[in-house]
Amino acid sequence: MTRAVIQGAAVATVDARGTEYAEGHVVVDGGRITAVGAGAAPVGPGDRVVDGRGCLATPGLVNTHHHLYQWATRGYAQQSDLFHWLVELYPVWAGLDEDTTRAAATAGLLRLARTGCTTAADHHYVFPAAGGDLLGATVDAAGAVGIRLHAARGSMDRGVSSGGLPPDSLVETTDGALAATQAAIERWHDPAPDAFTRVAVAPCSPFSVSAELMSGAAELARAAGVRLHTHLAETVGEEVQCLAEYGCTPVEYAERTGWIGPDVWLAHGVHLSDRAIEVLAAGGTGVAHCPTSNARLGAGTARVADLLAAGVAVGLGADGAASNEDGGLGPELRQAAYQARLRDGADALDVRQALWLGTMGGALCLGRQDELGSLEPGKLADVALWRLDGLAHAGIADPVAALVLGSLPPLRLLLAGGRTVVEDDVATRVDEHGAARALAAAGTRLAVAAGLLGPSGGSALRHIR
Ligand SMILES: [Zn+2]
Repeated sequence: MTRAVIQGAAVATVDARGTEYAEGHVVVDGGRITAVGAGAAPVGPGDRVVDGRGCLATPGLVNTHHHLYQWATRGYAQQSDLFHWLVELYPVWAGLDEDTTRAAATAGLLRLARTGCTTAADHHYVFPAAGGDLLGATVDAAGAVGIRLHAARGSMDRGVSSGGLPPDSLVETTDGALAATQAAIERWHDPAPDAFTRVAVAPCSPFSVSAELMSGAAELARAAGVRLHTHLAETVGEEVQCLAEYGCTPVEYAERTGWIGPDVWLAHGVHLSDRAIEVLAAGGTGVAHCPTSNARLGAGTARVADLLAAGVAVGLGADGAASNEDGGLGPELRQAAYQARLRDGADALDVRQALWLGTMGGALCLGRQDELGSLEPGKLADVALWRLDGLAHAGIADPVAALVLGSLPPLRLLLAGGRTVVEDDVATRVDEHGAARALAAAGTRLAVAAGLLGPSGGSALRHIR
């Protein structure tokens, strides 16, 4: 792998001191960062020199929550809250197979990469009996696009007949889900520091998973030395149901089932009491904040400023594209800043805190703070180089403000492990137009299978108003 030298860029390292350079360099070699500093770096024969003038270098963004398969089911249930949205989408997701999942995951990962993301956690919890190897299809897609994947092997064992939300046809048995999760760890989890593929244990949510599966999953993950992920405290409806069924709040339920600890990160954490925030902070448990999805579903506004003040690691998540049709991670920087300010005032979250959420905060959630999340010698060479000299950003003196508060800038370059994933705002490893065509075909197949579209593809989707 060629040594690469980025010269003349503004650099926001996101290190513990918040070091920044108005004009500096980033050098990567052999998949790692070897130098970061002010001014120009020495260049040797054979080096790839990247002109970074007019650009800002940041760590590659870390996405802490997603459902890549949902990229093929965007635009549904446009006015629905979470529970109604899920009930409308379950029958469509029932048609997932390897081809549709691969097409959706490829497109979703391409969108993430094009918005600065170099590490993505994907929470896949829908496994139709005849669907085939859906996790394998997602792992393949990440390998093709070239960014890191944390495949959170999801599960549901609580269908309608057991008081759960999903149809019985979409749930696994408790033992079957645990066995499949164990198999996924054995097949794909790479504990090496420079891993491109890791696996986490990720039952879906309290309203689709039994307490036995929650507890069993926690035991399995700790025996295997992998991390734990689930949805928690996303909506008021979830809290009402949790209180009615278990006599406790979602965070108390997490405590009871072994789901508070430094190896756990939870998606959403919107509806949290002061005590719940204390529990998460004391347990070292992270939160994947998904502001656009929370807005799309009217779920509420997370207490991000309070979580950060308490010392909770908060990362950003695009969440599934069925509740965030944009699907990009870069735009969540601004969404996070805006929502924190709508909730707590204009000084609630500054632009550097927003960038921290998307980088170091995410690395902490995934347990990779020693490898990812900042530009420092020895860390993995995951670098985003944002172009700030165009019409949309020129003249904004603070480059981090331009990135967070302006429209998302084009990418001059995106490196993952030192390898080019995006160059001059085009993905370099997968043809974007071919991926878009495959995605459209996958979306049509799912709609036809769900009876929402005629075989000719001609009739309008019934549910779109
Ligand atoms: Zn989610």
